[in-house]
Amino acid sequence: MAVQAVESSTGSADSAGSSVSLGPAVALSCRECGERFPLGPIFACAECFGPLEVAYDLPTGDPEGLRKRIEAGPNNIWRYAPLLPVPADVADKPNINPGFTKLVKADNLARELGVTGELYIKDDSGNPTHSFKDRVVAQAVEAARAFGFTTLSCSSTGNLAGAVGAAAARAGLRSCTFIPHDLEQGKVVMAAIYGGDLVAIEGTYDDVNRFCSELIGDPAGEGWGFVNVNLRPYYAEGSKTLAYEICEQLGWRLPDQLVIPIASGSQLTKIDKGLKELIALGLVEDKPYKIFGAQAEGCSPVSTAFKAGHDVVRPQKPNTIAKSLAIGNPADGPYVLDIARRTGGAVEDVNDEQVVDAIKLLARTEGIFAETAGGVTLGVAKKLLENGVLDPALTTVVLNTGDGLKTLDAVAPTTGPTAVIRPSLDAFREAGLG
Ligand SMILES: *Cc1c(COP(=O)(O)O)cnc(C)c1O
Ligand SMILES: [Zn+2]
Repeated sequence: MAVQAVESSTGSADSAGSSVSLGPAVALSCRECGERFPLGPIFACAECFGPLEVAYDLPTGDPEGLRKRIEAGPNNIWRYAPLLPVPADVADKPNINPGFTKLVKADNLARELGVTGELYIKDDSGNPTHSFKDRVVAQAVEAARAFGFTTLSCSSTGNLAGAVGAAAARAGLRSCTFIPHDLEQGKVVMAAIYGGDLVAIEGTYDDVNRFCSELIGDPAGEGWGFVNVNLRPYYAEGSKTLAYEICEQLGWRLPDQLVIPIASGSQLTKIDKGLKELIALGLVEDKPYKIFGAQAEGCSPVSTAFKAGHDVVRPQKPNTIAKSLAIGNPADGPYVLDIARRTGGAVEDVNDEQVVDAIKLLARTEGIFAETAGGVTLGVAKKLLENGVLDPALTTVVLNTGDGLKTLDAVAPTTGPTAVIRPSLDAFREAGLG
């Protein structure tokens, strides 16, 4: 994302005021210099241009009470409302209620990969628009409501546009979303079906994102909440719910190792934030965990920097079938490097062929059809096991963040009927299937 400070008056119907009520969220704070700002539709520090994130007054002191309150909550992300930048009555409003997706114990896959510890797939394809993006958009919708925005927008690699379209439809907001022109049909149709405007831009995701940054500063974008630009601090917090769910579903236990895909790096960064919060709140035992990041070789700016020992991430021009991860200039790249290094994890990449192999491996062993992003993540997990970087004896969670039906193009050329036959037993036997 182009780093650009936007004053709270820009594009805001109700500029950052103390009247804004977003639950335990109390301010925005700069991740670089720590400067604090009132809650508002801003995303870059006015002092140093660093990215802003939500600061909280979290309910500390009674972990048992908090755990009970969460467990008594709805079977979606709003069970964690006390830890999110949303009003306390969020669950009563019209929204698409994502989350509480399955954590699948993947014993067949573990056997095949030589994992002796517990292996889980956190399967976010079960969300309302079939990707993890529903989690983040749900937070942005509450921020948009709080700041008085009437149009919901985003720059998207595909899944986000669908999630914004659906959430806006349900919340009664207008939507206008922006995608690169060369996405998979499944994602384009899914982004358009909810009735908002969908604009395909002749360029890469990074071009789309730059365009959106310009639109925010222009009168044409006035009153617009861009979920991943001017609402990004709120949006990003939605990924914490993955951390909360994984730990709760493990019986309020931290996994030892997590393998997470990287597009902008926001999801990985906020899963780490969520895990740290659970430790600080006393909801899980304080013990080390390792975070591993996954990229496609054809768009691997973060893994390239990790392997080279660099602190800065050099932008790349993406060329991979994993289009939902095809961000050549990832905003949170440097933070991902920090987290991987601090926790003793790593960032790795796999090529498109390995992505397809991993999609098929997961489908064949566990009955889960992942989109290309899931193939990237499992492919990287497999590679890290083979390289001895992931410990096969520990508890490991691998994320599947999207549904294979959205990226049929990736597997269709090599997947189809075993045989096409006449409707007769002879033909069946002739085909060698009898
Ligand atoms: C957007 C997306 C991600 C990760 O996005 P970040 O920008 O890194 O938060 C992962 N998987 C899928 C399927 C996505 O659509
Ligand atoms: Zn700052």
